[in-house]
Amino acid sequence: MTIAAHVTSIFERIGAPVGFDSEGDIVCRTPIDGSELGRLQADSATSVGEKVGRAHAAFEQWRTVPAPTRGAFVRELGNLLREHKDDLGALVTIEAGKILSEGQGEVQEMIDICDLAVGLSRQLHGLTIASERPGHRMMEQWHPLGVVGVISAFNFPVAVWSWNAALAFVCGDSVVWKPSEKTVLTALACRAIADEAARRAGAPEGLLQVVVGAREVGEALVDDPRVPLVSATGSTRMGKEVAPRVAARLGRSLLELGGNNAAIIAPTADLDLAVRGIVFSAVGTAGQRCTSLRRVIVHESVKDELLQRLVAAYETLPIGSPLDSGTLVGPLIDGSAAAGFEKALDQVRSDGGTVLTGGTRAEAVEGGHYVHPAIVDMPEQTEIVRTETFAPLLYVLTYRDLDEAIALHNAVDQGLSSAIFTMDVREAELFVSATGSDCGIANVNIGTSGAEIGGAFGGEKDTGGGRESGSDAWRNYMRRTTNTINYSTELPLAQGVDFG
Ligand code: NAD
Repeated sequence: MTIAAHVTSIFERIGAPVGFDSEGDIVCRTPIDGSELGRLQADSATSVGEKVGRAHAAFEQWRTVPAPTRGAFVRELGNLLREHKDDLGALVTIEAGKILSEGQGEVQEMIDICDLAVGLSRQLHGLTIASERPGHRMMEQWHPLGVVGVISAFNFPVAVWSWNAALAFVCGDSVVWKPSEKTVLTALACRAIADEAARRAGAPEGLLQVVVGAREVGEALVDDPRVPLVSATGSTRMGKEVAPRVAARLGRSLLELGGNNAAIIAPTADLDLAVRGIVFSAVGTAGQRCTSLRRVIVHESVKDELLQRLVAAYETLPIGSPLDSGTLVGPLIDGSAAAGFEKALDQVRSDGGTVLTGGTRAEAVEGGHYVHPAIVDMPEQTEIVRTETFAPLLYVLTYRDLDEAIALHNAVDQGLSSAIFTMDVREAELFVSATGSDCGIANVNIGTSGAEIGGAFGGEKDTGGGRESGSDAWRNYMRRTTNTINYSTELPLAQGVDFG
């Protein structure tokens, strides 16, 4: 079966036609062999406006539905995702190029956030606050916010949407989703699944709208005053364009941007764990995760052994079609990603770096862009090391004392994920303390990627400061009202003000 035929059969099982249009300007491709899967019409600024209007109408109904009943819709969504996990996971593999187990893992993440959101639908709580006035009570409530705009990146084509949408739906919001123009098919499959879940749960039509296209379509969504929150995931460049536009109309933005994640390998590190953690974090999804490990900061006493073991592991990595069950390294998303990898390696050489392994093209599947993951020993943290190259390129830096390692660790613009491998409890605690890692995620004895949905996910500095997923991230999708209720017969003023 061709990959295009595979896609058609997946959509048939999901129960929705793909809606290809041979005249369309959005070309859907698979990075596996670069072949065209079909074309779709992009939205115009007018059709984006119409879809925002439909989402707003759905919101006006949805906010009147009790939150636990809204949870029943998300429960249906989670159940349908369980039913279609294999198909949706395979579609992620076909469209984003990640291996089957990672494609399925992404769908599992969607199922997990639906479970979390269903529970939350009974826990959207505010505070009661002691009033300074007799016969008065203060409380806060969290109300539905409105239409949430979700802009997502190619590398997590469905999970990031679900982190936002599952919470937004239980919070009483509707969603307009602009997926990456490189991964539209997975978004259309999710919309079909969400529409079916809404039908089964009796939720209003139009709660989820998908807008198709590149940055202009994103801009139309960003500028729409009926969208109080724009949750945007992608490069720091994109976030720096989106945030001022949303701020100009005093909207809110929730930004999940680029990372430049590092792991410190201390003298007492369990090197078995460290090697496994490093390889998965640096090479998983062919280095195209926001949390991919890009820098190893290793103590000089364990450097030789660590590098020997890492190079040996890298040299046996199976590279090939992500649809083959033995593959661990699939393709880069496109030719420009491969060119970016090569350009970074040119810079590395002129900065005095030594390529220890990889760094060349891999002959895997004709038409795809496959590379041998690279490890580079760097004399210092030059500008290229401080830059996120979205490919499997791992820099090695050496340190003598932990303060130096933490300083190197934090001396980059991004602040997403980080790790330390150590058996020394003082080092571990220091790393996760206020003077340790400056990232949103700081791990001990596990790698930088593969977060669970129960925690708040996101990072500081150029990563944008947003938090999604677990913990109290749901508050992003609601508006807070503070209520003072007077049940007395007097009207005392706050701060003791006397007004006649
Ligand atoms: P990208 O910035 O090129 O595109 C992301 C999305 O933004 C796409 O949908 C794109 O069409 C849209 N977009 C681009 N410019 C826009 C604009 N001016 N206005 C509105 N929309 C615009 O990113 P990408 O190449 O798809 O993804 C890779 C990047 O995303 C990496 O930097 C990676 O670290 C980051 N990422 C971050 C997270 C996170 O949670 N922090 C998760 C996944 C990916």
